[in-house]
Amino acid sequence: MNKKYRKPIIAGNWKMNMLSTKTKEFADDLKPLLPKNRSSEAVLCVPFPLIPGVAKAVKGLRVSVGAQDVSVHDKGAYTGEVSAEMLSDLGVKYCIIGHSERRAYHGETDALVNAKAKKLLEKEISITPIICVGETLEQRELDVTMEWISMQVKGALSGLSGGEVRKCVIAYEPVWAIGTGKTATAEQAQEVCEYIRTVVRKLYDARTARSLPILYGGSMNAKNAAELLACPDIDGGLIGGASLKPEDFSVIINAANEE
Ligand code: PEP
Repeated sequence: MNKKYRKPIIAGNWKMNMLSTKTKEFADDLKPLLPKNRSSEAVLCVPFPLIPGVAKAVKGLRVSVGAQDVSVHDKGAYTGEVSAEMLSDLGVKYCIIGHSERRAYHGETDALVNAKAKKLLEKEISITPIICVGETLEQRELDVTMEWISMQVKGALSGLSGGEVRKCVIAYEPVWAIGTGKTATAEQAQEVCEYIRTVVRKLYDARTARSLPILYGGSMNAKNAAELLACPDIDGGLIGGASLKPEDFSVIINAANEE
């Protein structure tokens, strides 16, 4: 499938790391390391309180600010929740939904991920959902990876039109590779990303499948990024640990730029 239809996206996921007092230093260190003529999109998905500060710190760097979760509710008595409108109001362009950590520790289901995607895609919100899917080690060993991934993709996209899906990003993140230093091989990652595209083609059409950016996430780093990003169905990365280090993050952005 031809990559020319899709812009590479390198999205950092800072998780619950970094302090607001450190974000300017991060941006100052990143600035000189970014390629001058960049075709790839760089995004930093940061904790909610850091959003305004990071937006200010990365101004002029062509780095978008993203969030790591969103409420399905619009407003009201939902203590601790942050609405899509609040994110949009802060200039957030991307939002991770269905990360395996939220699925594991906060009971996030495919139905909830689907509701969050719909909320982010509302016309007046227009935030790109980065929908995470991925199998556990046990599921891989039981050889049910593809069935599981297909179920997660179908669940997350349920009821969305082709036009809406073309505004989404899917991140394939094998749970066993997240934060473990154990990366999927390029063959393993490509196989699942290609499969995701096939699922989307069958659910929608060829146009939707070929324009959908599919990222790989799971211990992507400065050393393995180029090989993973060279795969025909891997359009970028969702990067945890390595996105906290400007040098490593910039190497990955540079690698995507060369694709
Ligand atoms: C992630 O949290 O989405 C992730 C891929 O983390 P890491 O790169 O640290 O494995």
